Amino acid sequence: MQRVSGLEHRQQPFKIYGNTYYVGTHGLGFVLITSQAGHVLIDGALPESVPQILANIRSLGFRPEDIKLIVNSHAHFDHAGGIAGLQKLSGARVAASNWTAEVMKRGAVPKDDPQFGVIIPIARVAQVEVLKDGETLTAGAVTVTAHMTPGHTPGGTSWVWQSCENGRCLNLVYADSLTPVSADGFLFSGKVYPHALQDFERSFSFLDSTPCDILITAHPDFSNLWQRLEQRNSNPDALIDTTACRVLANSSRERLQKRLAMERSQ
Ligand SMILES: [Zn+2]
Repeated sequence: MQRVSGLEHRQQPFKIYGNTYYVGTHGLGFVLITSQAGHVLIDGALPESVPQILANIRSLGFRPEDIKLIVNSHAHFDHAGGIAGLQKLSGARVAASNWTAEVMKRGAVPKDDPQFGVIIPIARVAQVEVLKDGETLTAGAVTVTAHMTPGHTPGGTSWVWQSCENGRCLNLVYADSLTPVSADGFLFSGKVYPHALQDFERSFSFLDSTPCDILITAHPDFSNLWQRLEQRNSNPDALIDTTACRVLANSSRERLQKRLAMERSQ
């Protein structure tokens, strides 16, 4: 969870690039990657976002029933709350990191979640496959690769895939939240989540090194999606920025340093 305004505000769906579409709300990222043989959906938003997501998918001419795989960024209610409902409707496979899969199966917030005690649990998801770091998943003709990017939660996951347009293929990245947000009293330098700092470092290194032509973030404001989309009116390539992942890594590092300075001063 993060305090970003307009989480549920309606957003007209649009093509990001090639077979990749934005179908989320204005405040919560949600990406559909399509193929003739079935689609992949990244993220699950709020339970109350589901009707809007379904309408967005249909308005693009796709059928939610053709979603074959649902994956997500992290197991907070604003990114995973809608997955149970979306799985029921589509019959899609759901795959997640070990930590996230446990949360989805139990439908409870674990104690090592930095926001334990202040966030609501998600609806339980019936069947969740556990995936490994670097694992590639295929559904229909779509292939996505999972990269563990923990820190915001111990099970955070980012996704990479390629989409092509007129023979030009680009590397797309859906990056998980990397903000050190917590309940009062929780310390990222503390013992409740003992590997938090190594986890963040690992996530920053991933962003520093992954091929990244178009970055989308679990909260779209963190990758300036709306400004870039506006610029696309005059520049068809405005969503492309090969520095975007490294810029996000740097701003996330700074945010963590500020947080740790605050923890030290307490
Ligand atoms: Zn969160």
